Amino acid sequence: MSAAVITRFAPSPTGKLHIGGLRTALYNYLYARHHGGRFLLRIEDTDRSRLVPGTAEDIIACLRWSGLNFDGEPVIQSSRLGDYREIAHQLIASGSAYRCFCTPERLETLRRNQQTQKLAPRYDKHCLRLSAISAQKLAAADTPYVVRLAVPTHGTITFTDLIHGIVPIKAEILDDQVLMKSDGYPTYHLAAVVDDHDAGITHVIRGEEWLPSTPKHLLLYHALGWTPPAFAHLPLLLNADRSKLSKRTGDVAVDDYRQAGYLPSALVNFIVLLGWNPGSDQEIFNLSELITQFSLERVKRSGAVFDQKKLDWINGYYLRQMDISAFTELAAPWLKTTPPPINSGHENFL
Ligand code: GLU
Repeated sequence: MSAAVITRFAPSPTGKLHIGGLRTALYNYLYARHHGGRFLLRIEDTDRSRLVPGTAEDIIACLRWSGLNFDGEPVIQSSRLGDYREIAHQLIASGSAYRCFCTPERLETLRRNQQTQKLAPRYDKHCLRLSAISAQKLAAADTPYVVRLAVPTHGTITFTDLIHGIVPIKAEILDDQVLMKSDGYPTYHLAAVVDDHDAGITHVIRGEEWLPSTPKHLLLYHALGWTPPAFAHLPLLLNADRSKLSKRTGDVAVDDYRQAGYLPSALVNFIVLLGWNPGSDQEIFNLSELITQFSLERVKRSGAVFDQKKLDWINGYYLRQMDISAFTELAAPWLKTTPPPINSGHENFL
């Protein structure tokens, strides 16, 4: 019998929940529920400089509003610093990671020289060559350091992505990733691998922007003797002009749609179709139909265009399905503040 599926949604509380984040959460939720598994929430708050107060609460509120209930309590990374430090030291002891004492000035000069020579910016492994004794002395003298992953200089890291198929990445293009910063906080890469392992995550389903990081994560799994999960990287969300969907081009926060009066069922129905297709003409789905029908095989690789008109059409459909008393209750606050528009075109939706 195969192990139960466990997925997770792992947002950083650096802003309000984005539509793309809700889609990642939804696909993780559907995949877990389809397989009778668990769906977990993890708040990745280790980048202290980018934290925005109140956004973890917004993420949780938006998930609840959308009906994507996660199992158990959320894991908060900042409460697990001791675990990450222990693993970082284990990696140093086994030679899979090393302390780097380079000053910001040295790194800046290195970067500028590489730029002049038209080379990709990359750490030059200077501190990898320090003897263990010198490194220990520097650390004992409280010289600030980061911990870096010792990436092999040659070879290819190959993995099978459930959406993209076989992905080979040459080790020589990977940087010696910082795993632990000088403030003692782990970077995303170390913390995510440790937490995914500890929570028994079987499937990591996340945005395509993380695909290039996956080989570094696999090196960590290998170094720690852990079995990696399966990976699935979701296609980008695009504007109509096929540029990356971003805040600059309009509302992208789930809360903005909520405030504008969109129904959660409509938003979920719309979002699931951004990258997944059911293989039939069906366009309207409730959550339990989605749980039954969802599969990663039907998620495409190419970017998915966000079509506001389609969202409005789906929302109109759900509004028309409401019984009149529920609809009146929903509409009442709007009628108080916004008189019904005359010939505004909104009659198409109602
Ligand atoms: N914290 C990352 C993000 O917000 C999570 C990436 C992952 O799922 O591994 O995108």
